Amino acid sequence: MTNDGWHALDVKHIWHPCSQMHDYIDLPLLPIKSAKGVYLYDFEGNRYIDAISSWWVNLFGHNHPYINQKLKEQIDTLEHVLLAGLTHPQAINLAARLCALSGFEKCFFADNGSACVEVALKMSYHSHLLEGKQKPKFLSLENGYHGETLGALSVGAVGLYKDTYKELFCQHLQTPVPKNEADVPRALQALQVLLQKEHKNISAFILEPLIQCAGNMHFYSADFVKQATKMCQALGVHVIFDEIAVGFGRTGSLFAFEQCQVKPDFLCLSKGITGGYLPLAVVLTTNSIYEQFYAPYEQNKSFLHSHSYTGNALACACANATLDLFEQGVVEKNKKLSADISAHLQERLGSLKGVKNLRACGMVFAFELTGYKGTKRLSLAVFQKGLELGILLRPLADTIYFMPAYTITPQEVLESVGAMAQVVRALT
Ligand SMILES: *Cc1c(COP(=O)(O)O)cnc(C)c1O
Repeated sequence: MTNDGWHALDVKHIWHPCSQMHDYIDLPLLPIKSAKGVYLYDFEGNRYIDAISSWWVNLFGHNHPYINQKLKEQIDTLEHVLLAGLTHPQAINLAARLCALSGFEKCFFADNGSACVEVALKMSYHSHLLEGKQKPKFLSLENGYHGETLGALSVGAVGLYKDTYKELFCQHLQTPVPKNEADVPRALQALQVLLQKEHKNISAFILEPLIQCAGNMHFYSADFVKQATKMCQALGVHVIFDEIAVGFGRTGSLFAFEQCQVKPDFLCLSKGITGGYLPLAVVLTTNSIYEQFYAPYEQNKSFLHSHSYTGNALACACANATLDLFEQGVVEKNKKLSADISAHLQERLGSLKGVKNLRACGMVFAFELTGYKGTKRLSLAVFQKGLELGILLRPLADTIYFMPAYTITPQEVLESVGAMAQVVRALT
């Protein structure tokens, strides 16, 4: 069947995520037949560079031989079993490895990013309650994003996703994120004022360390994260780092919090955790949180939260395979790769007049497109022009970003950067 044929069948029954279906009247859906490395292939023999790692999940390229092999081995051994009252080696090994890598002691499984944010929020609230403290509010950063279930949406700040549902939310407060390095004292001051007034009511402060990805790839100060975390923890407010997007090497260290020289009370991980193969998420936390819940059942202290696919064996096998790949010095090798990509972007895009604020943090590259000449929504225009030129781009408002797989080759970098430059020239 052709691309158009698949499009026609698709829109009969699929309601797509994060989409206005009306757009698909004249915006062809791109049916993907197969994928390998950084390339996606459609049904008409065209290929596209996946410049956004399929919504930031695909760390080592598509169809990776090693992850494939580990997944195939697992599928012939154990596909899934519930994790209440039962356990299995893939979940055990994964939990132990994640704890060893992050310095946490306990791992609670969930099955997607939003769900693990809900877990962290509930655990934090519940643990204060077990200490006799009723703390019904959560604090988050302006411009933050934490997922789209109701609790996660409450603590997020992206109005586009949030405003419609505001009557349904749990209690939340927001504090400014620094606009730049010079703005850090103002942001810390605002946080301090807010905490002085409200800390007794706040269970936890949730933030995405270093990069607010959905918030238009806003890079901000590690020092702010450090000082803000210390301020909260000193006042008995838990800190939750949402590393769902920035974890697993994206910011240049395995976890972003390593660059901030503080340790949160909860660490949320998902997206890249399975190398982009299957949905999985975890909340990592400390023994001291865990122990508050640990008591004879009759004392009613249990954390009774569960998802059917908690700790799915296939997903855990992919996650263990992904960690195996990290053991080959990936974070270190990415330093050079990041510098090379930055240099190419600077050279090919830096001088284009439509490109503003070209920036890089680890394996995240972004810029704002200015002077757009078209009439169609900018994000749609870039998406469409990109596909014409063989690259999958999905801007956030006017921010175009490049988040490639860590396995991208020098040739593929050149091809990507060239295609992005052509997109910019065509639209400005
Ligand atoms: C994607 C994302 C989430 C939500 O994860 P889902 O798996 O899409 O529910 C939460 N927080 C951050 C920072 C994210 O980037």
